[in-house]
Amino acid sequence: MVMMRDAIDGHALDDATPRHAAARHTATAERLAAEGDWEQAYQHLRAAVRLLHGQPVPADELARLRREHAEAREQSRRDSLTSSYNRRYLDERLVTLLDDPACRGTAGLSVALVDADHFKQVNDTFGHRFGDRVLQRIVAELGTGLPEGAFCARYGGEEFALVLPGCEPADAVRTCEAARHRIDHHPWPELDERLRVTVSIGVAHTAGPLTDVEGLVGAADVLLYAAKDSGRNAVAYRDEGTGFVRLAGPAGGRRAITQPGQAETRL
Ligand code: GH3
Ligand code: MG
Ligand code: MG
Repeated sequence: MVMMRDAIDGHALDDATPRHAAARHTATAERLAAEGDWEQAYQHLRAAVRLLHGQPVPADELARLRREHAEAREQSRRDSLTSSYNRRYLDERLVTLLDDPACRGTAGLSVALVDADHFKQVNDTFGHRFGDRVLQRIVAELGTGLPEGAFCARYGGEEFALVLPGCEPADAVRTCEAARHRIDHHPWPELDERLRVTVSIGVAHTAGPLTDVEGLVGAADVLLYAAKDSGRNAVAYRDEGTGFVRLAGPAGGRRAITQPGQAETRL
C-alpha cells in the first residue's frame, strides 16, 4: 500500500472523533484529486470510509463519499496519458489471476505484449506531443473487441499488455491479430498524411493451474522480440504442437521466422 502523507494538511491523524478525522481525510483527498494525485486521494478516501463504518452519518454524505472513493480508486488504476490500466494495476491483477477460476480451466491464461514499431521515429519526425496522441489511438484500438474479462494495460513507454483470462490460445492469437490489423489500417493520415503506425505483438499462453505469471510475461516478451526480428507488424506465438514460433495471419505464410535463441539482436 502506498503510504499516506503522515499528517493531513498539517493536522495530526488522531482527531477527536472518527467523523472529524474522516472529514479531514475527505478534504485532503479532494485536494489531492484536484492535483491529479489519484493514488493518494484514493488512500485518504479509503481511510475516511473505514472511519465512518458503523458511525451515524447522513445517508447522502456516505453515498457521496463512496462515490468519490470509487472514482478515486478507478483513477488510481489508470494511466494518465492513455486512460488504459497502469502498470501497478497490471501487476496486482496478474497476482490475483493466480487464484482466478477462469484461469484454472482448460482455457488458462494468455498474455500479450504489444510494442509500437519504430516509435522513436514517430517522435523524431512529428514531435513528442504528436506521439502521445498516436499512443492514445493505439490504446483505443487495442481495447476494441476484447473478450469478456480481458483488459489492456500500459506496460511502460510505448509498450502495452493485453491480459486474456480464460481465453483459448487460438482465440488469443486471433484477438491479437485483429488488433494488429486494426492498428495497421487505422486512418493515421487523419493526423498526418505521412504517418504510418504498426505494432508487433508476442502472445504467450499457459494452460492448467497458473503458477508462474512472471514466466508467462517473460515468454510473451521473447515472442515479441521474435515478431520484431521477423520484420515487425506481426503477431508471434508458439505452435502448441511443434513448439516453433509462428506468425499469425498473412505474415505467417510470407516470412522467414527467426526462432528465439537464433536471433541475438533486434533488427
Ligand atoms: P522498435 O520497433 O524496435 O520498438 O523501435 P522503437 O523506436 O519503437 O523503440 P525504442 O525503444 O528505440 O524507442 C521507443 C520510443 O518510444 C522512444 C520513446 O521516447 C518513445 N516513448 C515512450 N513513451 C512515450 C510516451 O509516453 N510518449 C511519446 N510520445 N513517446 C514515448
Ligand atoms: Mg517500439
Ligand atoms: Mg519498446
